[in-house]
Parts: sequence; structure tokens; C-alpha cells
Amino acid sequence: MTKLLIATNNIHKIEEYQEILADLPFIITHPAKEGLTLDPEETGTTFEENAIIKAKAFAEASGLLTLADDSGLEVDALGGEPGVYSARYGDTAKDDHIGRYQLVLAKLASLNVPWSERTGRFRCVIALATPEKLLGMVDGSVEGFINYEPKGSGGFGYDPVFFFPEFNCTLAEVSSMQKHTVSHRGRAGRAAAAVLKRL
Ligand code: IMP
Repeated sequence: MTKLLIATNNIHKIEEYQEILADLPFIITHPAKEGLTLDPEETGTTFEENAIIKAKAFAEASGLLTLADDSGLEVDALGGEPGVYSARYGDTAKDDHIGRYQLVLAKLASLNVPWSERTGRFRCVIALATPEKLLGMVDGSVEGFINYEPKGSGGFGYDPVFFFPEFNCTLAEVSSMQKHTVSHRGRAGRAAAAVLKRL
């Protein structure tokens, strides 16, 4: 079976893709498993640009069929912030997700944004590549509201403050399988799976 490299060092994203792509006839692998210590600089200003940067860098370094994503939270009342800077938003420590979503909550509170305008979305853009070429791009998104306070202990990143109306709770309050049915990564991942099945 062909290996498919999930090009991220984020353990949460790796776990999610292992679940989302479980039915594919590929051996799912990740950088640490391949002995790769690559951390390409995300110099793009769009999810698309950064996904391509990561897909090309990891495919060339590994020689493997590669899936890279760039994802993040867009908050309408903050002009789309944190957006592509979701993983490094604010001046808190780099892996401090709590600090980052607290910053989003603090900014919305200081602007007195009413519930109806606390809209936002998670977006995920996936680039598929081999060492020779870019194979394709797919994307997915999920619309919701930024909760007034964090709730739930599942998921990762901004999930505790992302209220999903159809579930009537945040994405940190549902199982990972439930999250995948509606999430940006679930949707983009299923679109990527369709492309990969045609290879
Ligand atoms: P990336 O690794 O550069 O794509 O950064 C993605 C960042 O966006 C993560 O570190 C999180 O802060 C945020 N993010 C992306 N997807 C999710 C999700 O499914 N739940 C919560 N936060 C997410």
C-alpha cells in the first residue's frame, strides 16, 4: 500500500486525519513517524498559499504522497482575525491555545459585540502533492458563533469557544466523530479522499 504523509506537526490534526481518512487504501503516516523534523515557514497570506507551501516542502523532503492543510478561525466582528494567524495569534506562548481563544473573547467583549454578530467560521484548505507536482486543492468550512465563554474539553484550539447551532453546543462538547461530520477538516478531508481515490 502507498504511504500518505499528513504534513503537520500538530498531533491533534494528525489524529483527526487518521479518523477522517481511515477508510482510504493508504498507510497514513506523519512527519515524526518518518523521522522528518521539518517546520516550513508559513509565509503566505491565505490558507491556500500556506497549504501549498507545506505540501511541497513535505513532499519534497519525504518523497511521499502528501496531504497538507492550512486552517483557522475567521471571526467576522474582528475583520476575519485570527485567520491564517490562528496558530500564532496574540503575544501568548506559541502552544497556548487557551491564551489565544481568551484573546478572541476579550476583543469581542471590548467591542460589545451582540450575539447575532458573533459569527465566524473554521476554514480548512488542503493541498495534495507528490514530490513532482501539486495534485489538487480542496477546502471545507463550518459556520458558527463565538461563544461568550469556553465550554467542553474535547477537540483542540478554538473548539471550546466555537458554538455550532445545529448541535446547540461548542465543538469541544461533542465526540471527535461528531465533530468530523460537520467540521471544516471533516468536509475538506472527505473531498480530499475523493481526489485520492481517483489516483
Ligand atoms: P495551522 O496548523 O497553521 O493550520 O494552524 C491551525 C490553527 O488554527 C490551529 O493551531 C488552531 O489554533 C486553529 N484550528 C484549526 N482547526 C481547528 C479546529 O478544528 N478546532 C480548533 N482550532 C482549530
